[in-house]
Amino acid sequence: MKGYIHSTESFGTVDGPGIRFVVFFQGCPLRCLYCHNPDTWEMHSAKNNRGTEMSVGEILEMYDGVKEFCSGGITATGGEPLMQLDFLTELFEEAKKRNINTCLDTSGITFDPDHTEKFDRLMKSTDVIMLDIKHIDDEEHKKLTGHSNKNILEFARYLSKNEKTLWVRHVTVPGITYNDEYLHRLGVFLSELRSLKALDVLQYHDMGKVKYENLGIPYPLGDTPPLTKEQAAHARDVIMQGIKDGLASRKHE
Ligand code: SF4
Repeated sequence: MKGYIHSTESFGTVDGPGIRFVVFFQGCPLRCLYCHNPDTWEMHSAKNNRGTEMSVGEILEMYDGVKEFCSGGITATGGEPLMQLDFLTELFEEAKKRNINTCLDTSGITFDPDHTEKFDRLMKSTDVIMLDIKHIDDEEHKKLTGHSNKNILEFARYLSKNEKTLWVRHVTVPGITYNDEYLHRLGVFLSELRSLKALDVLQYHDMGKVKYENLGIPYPLGDTPPLTKEQAAHARDVIMQGIKDGLASRKHE
């Protein structure tokens, strides 16, 4: 089986535990307004043939070449790795046979709570999940990404139920997610997730702009200023308060 891979990167330091070999999968069904990787959206097309076809063996061979420096393991990111679920599963199963730590960076968008068989299998070979929750409010999520967040939140619950090590990431964007009500609601939701091990509040920045220019696509957040460090710290505090409030209210149930 071959997968469509956008690129690979050694020495990834923000893509899971330790220093990692990062595999960027091609293809994503979301269209996040702040996406930094619009060149990963299309799986393959005559117009945008950016994915390289690679086998699991070829990827692991590349990893072997840098494994001394990437002792953290392999991270699958994208794009959306779950778009190529069978290939991703084959990659992680092969990696686990070699005792390589595996991390999946995903939005969870393809999860279907009524058909989890393939996810159950993938989870057996996945050590860590980095789940990007884009927006806690469903209507706002649709405006931000073009899709509902219902199955994404169900995916988070599924991971928690299955005791999968879960890191949640949340990009905080002025005028979109930088809003105390939404941040607090996100915290209350996170308080449900027993397997949550880390929370990463990412500051929106516009460094992806140049890729849009290169692709000839208008940059949707042209007028949005980057989030400041102080705002990011505030956002984190509000989410943490939501987690505390969520835990406290459940104690009284
Ligand atoms: S999920 Fe990631 S790759 Fe897909 S549109 Fe959103 S930011 Fe871009």
